[in-house]
Amino acid sequence: MSNPTNSPLEAAAGVAGTDATEAFGLLANETRLAILLALWEAKEPEKPRSEQAVPFSELYERVAIRDSGNFTYHLDKLDGTFVRSTEEGYKLSNTAARVLRAVFAGTLTEDRSFEGRLSEFECYRCGSSLIVDYTDENETIQRCTGCGGAYEWPEYPSGMVAHADLPPAALEDRTPQEMQRKGNTWIRNRLMTLLNGVCPDCAGRITTTTHVCEDHDVPEGAV
Ligand SMILES: [Zn+2]
Ligand SMILES: [Zn+2]
Repeated sequence: MSNPTNSPLEAAAGVAGTDATEAFGLLANETRLAILLALWEAKEPEKPRSEQAVPFSELYERVAIRDSGNFTYHLDKLDGTFVRSTEEGYKLSNTAARVLRAVFAGTLTEDRSFEGRLSEFECYRCGSSLIVDYTDENETIQRCTGCGGAYEWPEYPSGMVAHADLPPAALEDRTPQEMQRKGNTWIRNRLMTLLNGVCPDCAGRITTTTHVCEDHDVPEGAV
């Protein structure tokens, strides 16, 4: 594909859409990210939203940049999308808060993976005990100790009856069993949202298509 602008980000707009690349472009600057993080840090959850604004001078102090012109330039760039300015000061927009939450949820540096913990759930196919793993790809996998499981995917362990993405925050202050119980609630709610035609990430419309694979027969008892 030709790229007359020589901007890799603009060239990628064909994939992500120009709105998305503009948003990425807005965030691609250290000072702007520092402003967003400073606003996040300044949040006082016990205060009503109307009192959450951070005055310009306080925000400038928090970002610890020594060039006020540069600071104002970047703050203006964020205003209207990731930052809202009010008479009292500056606030994170809901969009910025969602972006930061997603980053925090996915980037706990501590490796929380584990393998082979006994689950408190039973296999829905044969009733045997289940084993639960949490991978370094932030995926929870449930394996049956008594049957071949429901999936035969070479990249996954045998006996697998369920697998799902689960952010590492699900393990914070929880045992593997609690993680599985609470994780199931999170995953089920996302699935219910999807099944009701709403994207659990952006609340947009879901389109569904059914694909029937005719390459093989479904083994007896498979789901
Ligand atoms: Zn089983
Ligand atoms: Zn969506």
